[in-house]
Amino acid sequence: MTMAGATAAKIAKKSFAPFAFFAFSIPVALSCSTPSSPAPSTPAATSTTPAVPAPQPVRVLMLTATAGFRHDSIPAARAAVAAIAARSGEFVAAPTEDLAELNPARLAVVDVVMFALTSGELPLGDAQKRALIDFVNGGGGFVGFHSATDTLYEWPDYGRLVGAYFKEHPWTQAATVAVEDRAHPTTSGLGASFSLTEEFYTFRENPRTSVHVLLTLDPASVGAQGDFPLAWTQTIGRGRSYYNALGHFDQTWNDARFQLQIAAAVRWAAGR
Ligand SMILES: [Zn+2]
Repeated sequence: MTMAGATAAKIAKKSFAPFAFFAFSIPVALSCSTPSSPAPSTPAATSTTPAVPAPQPVRVLMLTATAGFRHDSIPAARAAVAAIAARSGEFVAAPTEDLAELNPARLAVVDVVMFALTSGELPLGDAQKRALIDFVNGGGGFVGFHSATDTLYEWPDYGRLVGAYFKEHPWTQAATVAVEDRAHPTTSGLGASFSLTEEFYTFRENPRTSVHVLLTLDPASVGAQGDFPLAWTQTIGRGRSYYNALGHFDQTWNDARFQLQIAAAVRWAAGR
């Protein structure tokens, strides 16, 4: 090798070394990119595969505030609703006694407002009352249980929302509840009738003319005569209202037949 040749070889070695490395790396890069080239599209494909996204759980604001009679079953009611929510995964319930939560900003992130065992003239301001009515009219759901009808007598719009006002409870005993609408989702699985021990309500006015009746008390089972609706639904504006007069005792909240109705009522009121 001449001097010049050796220099040229050195130069060549120096200058081609990167190429050599590059040339080496190309097949490596190719061999890497060949199997990995579908890889970027694979995650993209799988990310678009679930065309039906899991529905977000229904958001329930559960109010148990009282300004009159306070039921001993409030803790049982809260526990039952929490248990149903956890078991089904279909809804999340935020129990509260803070009336300040009835405001437009809070209701904007709620699907269903539940009045469970509320009572008396809850001190709501005009803006809060407007917020609740606007919420339901705008497509929200309202669910009331038991003494939700023994609540806010002095606010007629609330009376229309819940469907009736409590009059008295002549019968606290075991009795038969007739399922008047067996096709409604909230009565599914109840059969034609069921018996339980409850404090059975009557109302100042029979709501039948303005609501869709789901359950009635079988008057013969308490030795009475008449029409005694116990649960009903209404559509109000673009929203939905459900009421069920049962819920006086802890045992009712722990009763599987009542829990079925709670879960279905939340679902129905949310428009699911
Ligand atoms: Zn009661």
